[in-house]
Amino acid sequence: MISGMWHLRGLAILVLACTATLARAEPVAITFDDLPLNGELAPGMTRAGIVRDVLAVLKAAQVPTTFGFVNAARFEGSADGAQALRLWVDGGQRVGNHTYAHGDLVGESAEEFMADVRRDEPVLELLDPAHDWHWLRYPYLHEGNTHAKRHAVRAALAVRGYRIAQTTLDYEDYLWNSPYARCLARHDERAIASLRAGYLAIAAQYLDADRQLAQLLYGHEVSHVLLLHLGAFSSAILPDLLQLLHAKGFTLVTLEQAQRDPVYATDPDGVEPESGTLLEQWIAVRKLPVPPAPAKPYRELETLCK
Ligand SMILES: [Zn+2]
Repeated sequence: MISGMWHLRGLAILVLACTATLARAEPVAITFDDLPLNGELAPGMTRAGIVRDVLAVLKAAQVPTTFGFVNAARFEGSADGAQALRLWVDGGQRVGNHTYAHGDLVGESAEEFMADVRRDEPVLELLDPAHDWHWLRYPYLHEGNTHAKRHAVRAALAVRGYRIAQTTLDYEDYLWNSPYARCLARHDERAIASLRAGYLAIAAQYLDADRQLAQLLYGHEVSHVLLLHLGAFSSAILPDLLQLLHAKGFTLVTLEQAQRDPVYATDPDGVEPESGTLLEQWIAVRKLPVPPAPAKPYRELETLCK
């Protein structure tokens, strides 16, 4: 009898332990915007080299397939850019549409925006003849500043077979790409060390803050999608970032897996010109008080190593 009770107690502890583990293991998909390149390059750096280095990190850490959202205008006339994109897909990564010229739906009509979407498609078709590229990441995460525009674009995307690649975790990682390229060019190790520390501090704070938005909205965690930008700093910081995600209890999944969470089938239908992540859009629509976000070092990054 006693041993039976102990057995039951042991089972209860095991169940509790598993529940705690499950509660901490939050799925997150990694996505990269602005392929083949965001920001500046350091002398001697190439777009293809950046992709090669990022692929090596992803492979070493066994990261599930990631998405790269392409602006074809970014590599027109650049053999290096074209090679970078070829390496990306040959390395097992996916591509999606980020519009041809990174247009902003706030300043464009629905028709102009969709023309920019269509203009990006031939390149995606060449890169992924299996047609699995029908995912759109809105540039600037702007989904339109009027209902008419927002609805027209969503309807046109649905007709063309697109899914919207949402995000829930965003700390404007692109801010670090160009400063890193500049500091690398100067061989300024001290500045690079401060860039790393600053990046990881902001990433840690925003990962927490963005998760709190999910708690605020739903009372529980959701599957997340992390927005990154492929640039000079990517491969240098990615190992540390992966470690941070792991330490914070995230488990890496693909975009499809993350977006199976029912929150991705919802549409906040907001018209805030500066719309942000899916969670930020819902917070705005529900007029919930936005928890204070940590300040980002915009000015320091802009002037560093100049
Ligand atoms: Zn972008």
